Amino acid sequence: AVPVALVAGLSRATHFGVLVKGAAPLEALAGIRTLILDKTGTLTDGQPRIVSTQSHGNLSGDDMLFLAAAMDQASKHPIAQAIVAVARDRGLVLPVPADVVETAGEGVAGTINGQAVLVGSPGFVAARTSGNVVNDVSRVSGDPGSVVVALGVDGVLAGHFVLADSLRSGTATLLAGLRKAGIQRIILATGDRRVVADAVSGTLGLDGVHADLTPDQKVSLVLSERSHGTVMMVGDGVNDAPALASADVGVAMGARGAAASVVAALGYITPVQGALLQEVIDIAVILNALR
Ligand code: ADP
Ligand code: MG
Repeated sequence: AVPVALVAGLSRATHFGVLVKGAAPLEALAGIRTLILDKTGTLTDGQPRIVSTQSHGNLSGDDMLFLAAAMDQASKHPIAQAIVAVARDRGLVLPVPADVVETAGEGVAGTINGQAVLVGSPGFVAARTSGNVVNDVSRVSGDPGSVVVALGVDGVLAGHFVLADSLRSGTATLLAGLRKAGIQRIILATGDRRVVADAVSGTLGLDGVHADLTPDQKVSLVLSERSHGTVMMVGDGVNDAPALASADVGVAMGARGAAASVVAALGYITPVQGALLQEVIDIAVILNALR
């Protein structure tokens, strides 16, 4: 029944505006054992608001936002883009950062008006500054969707921001649909902190949780799950690209413009826009029904 299933899947995919390169991802879609989900921008809507700003030194909250947003102009991370948007909304005019070095999924370093600036995950900034971000951050809430972004200036921890990102509505229903379609294991793989990962996993009833992962560790997780069966990875097309490429089926959420063409070229199934997970479930359900 494979050719019939593929024809049905392909026309369905085309109908939904999903780009498919080659038949292999669709064939794999019919036999997925494990679904690995990224959190930020995948399970959450990726449009967080800043809910609090904590300075650990002399900088005001406005100075912190100015430096973090100026630096984050150099990053395509959804959190980075949210910070830039907040700053622009407040009318800040941001200088262009120099000497930029991005560590994908962790943070970005560079120079702004002669100051060495780091912005990114608490672990990323703590590893490159003095000051105890870990203790400070452990007091922050573990609400699903809450994100902590740390700021380092001239080698010292300057402070951190707490951002609230909401879980996408309807995710629990989508995951139930995928289980119906035959997926046995649904696990979370996030670069975010353990408290947040556990809270998300509890809310959605997931089968496994991996927190504090770097993009390389996500690749290792995908490969180790592949030794047990077919793996679909759903993540962010930019930061999770290596993990998406390592899976049998890679799904890039919300990839637009240049990012969309990159993931399409790599053979991922790529959303043109919007609620992709639903589209993938529909295709998986059809393929499994026809098998
Ligand atoms: P997930 O795996 O859940 O999508 P990521 O690995 O993409 O999460 O990001 C983990 C954390 O890294 C974020 O919660 C945020 O603290 C931080 N982070 C990564 N890159 C940046 C950046 N460029 N600017 C600000 N924060 C960043
Ligand atoms: Mg992500």
